[in-house]
Amino acid sequence: MRVLLVEDEPRAAEILARGLREQTYAVDVASDGEAAIFQAAATDYDALILDVMLPIKDGMAVCRTIRESGNAVPILMLTARDAVDARIEGLDCGADDYLVKPFDFGELLARLRAIVRRGRQPIAAERVTIGALTLDTRARRARVGARELALTAKEYALLEYLVRRAGDVVTRAEIAEHVWDEHSDPLSNVVDVYIQRLRRKIEEAGGEPPIRTRRGEGYQVIG
Ligand code: CA
Repeated sequence: MRVLLVEDEPRAAEILARGLREQTYAVDVASDGEAAIFQAAATDYDALILDVMLPIKDGMAVCRTIRESGNAVPILMLTARDAVDARIEGLDCGADDYLVKPFDFGELLARLRAIVRRGRQPIAAERVTIGALTLDTRARRARVGARELALTAKEYALLEYLVRRAGDVVTRAEIAEHVWDEHSDPLSNVVDVYIQRLRRKIEEAGGEPPIRTRRGEGYQVIG
């Protein structure tokens, strides 16, 4: 899951981005409204976390512009103003939900999961099962039968993305876009390396890896 975090205060952005990455999200950061609009148009994000108070263009204007362009990406708005008017304006301009600063990080994660669940892809029960493989999307853990897989954050993120797209043939470019962030090298074979590791870990836990290679196309998870 790849998220665009729009926050102009460097310290707040850094703390939030670090927390989200620990939760296996791929995170890009935009620090003003214009950059946010540009990045949201250039990349197919799974969600936006959008601060209202921003330089150049504020969060409301960003949200409106994104919606007017036909982009339905789930948007969680952060408002410092605990005024009903600001919340109503945020929802009216097309945000899916809002959080009033200061907020609890756990609540931000829960709201993020909720807007993505309701979002464009019909996905994400808390527990997803493919054959003997079970993903707990809240705890971000995977197991085969009763055996927990020892996955790194990135391996888990890759597995969850593939499982959410079960049945679809997913290209390497799509995987790179949703699981890695803008700092990754699109020409590397990192996706293939991670797929091999996932298969090996699933096999070592006694499972049959559900990830098929579609030659010349990408990968497909078979339920
Ligand atoms: Ca701000």
